[in-house]
Amino acid sequence: MAAAAGLVEREAGRLTELDSAIGDADHGTNMQRGFAAVVKALESEPPAAPGAVLMTAGRQLISTVGGAAGPLYGTLLRRAGKRLGEAPQVTAAELRAGLRAGLDSVRELGGAAPGDKTMVDALVPAVEALGDSLDAAAAAADEGARATVPMLARKGRASYLGERSIGHQDPGATSTALLFAALAEVAR
Ligand code: ADP
Ligand code: MG
Repeated sequence: MAAAAGLVEREAGRLTELDSAIGDADHGTNMQRGFAAVVKALESEPPAAPGAVLMTAGRQLISTVGGAAGPLYGTLLRRAGKRLGEAPQVTAAELRAGLRAGLDSVRELGGAAPGDKTMVDALVPAVEALGDSLDAAAAAADEGARATVPMLARKGRASYLGERSIGHQDPGATSTALLFAALAEVAR
């Protein structure tokens, strides 16, 4: 979470720039505010288990980030944390199952399918590639984010633009790539 917060902080300008092209120019600040709150909460009350870390992080994102991405990422982390339960350690396979459950919850909550030009377009290939390695997942998320450029947005604020959403990379798919890059980096 600290690595994610650091990367989000460094890339906030780029996220907001992407969101200014097809949204309301707040994705970078939204993510920055959310992850700063996550780090603060984890430092003041360090949870005993990985599952609890994800639950706390998810709760913070939901309560501090207005906008679509906060509740979506928050739900993803909470669902993943719930899946991991109280175990003091988790295996790679358990993490994969947790993130898969988290992805399912994003799709339920947001109703976006692959190809709709959202974070789902980075999340789906990333979770698929988790079976290979975290580095593969990070690369797949990045590729998924880039692949949103020619897509027409069908969900979220960008969908109001219709055809004009084509030609821009989706901010949420881009932040998903950052989060998987942070995960891969700390595991290396
Ligand atoms: P808002 O759109 O409310 O300003 P943000 O700018 O923080 O919120 O986040 C925008 C991102 O949220 C989009 O780039 C997209 O990836 C993601 N998003 C929006 N709506 C959905 C949805 N229904 N399902 C999945 N992701 C979504
Ligand atoms: Mg926005």
